[in-house]
Amino acid sequence: MVTQVQIIQWIQVFASVIEHHKEELTELDAAIGDADHGINMDRGFKKVSNLLPSFVDKDISTIFRTVSMTLISSVGGASGPLYGTWFLRASSATAGKKELTEEDMLKFLQSGLDGVIERGKAQLGDKTMLDVLSPAVVAFEQAVNEGMGTVEALRAAVSAAEQGLQETIPMVAKKGRASYLGDRSVGHQDPGGTSAYFMLRSLLKVVDSQKKGGRG
Ligand code: ADP
Ligand code: MG
Repeated sequence: MVTQVQIIQWIQVFASVIEHHKEELTELDAAIGDADHGINMDRGFKKVSNLLPSFVDKDISTIFRTVSMTLISSVGGASGPLYGTWFLRASSATAGKKELTEEDMLKFLQSGLDGVIERGKAQLGDKTMLDVLSPAVVAFEQAVNEGMGTVEALRAAVSAAEQGLQETIPMVAKKGRASYLGDRSVGHQDPGGTSAYFMLRSLLKVVDSQKKGGRG
């Protein structure tokens, strides 16, 4: 079970990971884009961080909706609307919830992914965040179907995400600014895929550390 408190911690951890990796994300985007991905994400998540105190008495769906609105209004670029859509769909999938079972988690991760696909119209292999988010959801679903709990399923999701991220390196970009480079995008890791990997890794970190510190 993932609690509302853990969801707030996740947003907080992700915001600080983005801050710490701002330069790295921007360098990745400098290689195949316009060198703003770290700046965009950090701007949005700094705004989100300022709202964290107001999340304390809100349900998970409301928190996700607020994150979505904040990202849409402050991030810009391709990633703003895409992350905004991811959190908006996550909000719809968690209506009224104060905690999430592994089935709820699957529904929210799947819904977020579906939103990114509908909004960005990318396909697998186009060298986007989709190449990280999609294998993660597949791995999560498979783990849940095999009877694993949230922590184990998230571990599987994060390792699939990491592999998906590595696999973006040899890909030719077909969407977004990187697609203007054509074959010259080969050999570089996708910036949006990198931030998506950080997002999932942050979620695992929070849920996993809670487990160790709690009932075990
Ligand atoms: P911009 O490209 O407008 O400067 P960012 O630099 O913030 O925006 O984000 C770039 C990232 O957005 C890419 O690395 C890629 O992962 C993601 N991206 C771009 N276009 C799409 C799309 N159509 N579908 C999914 N992800 C996309
Ligand atoms: Mg950019």
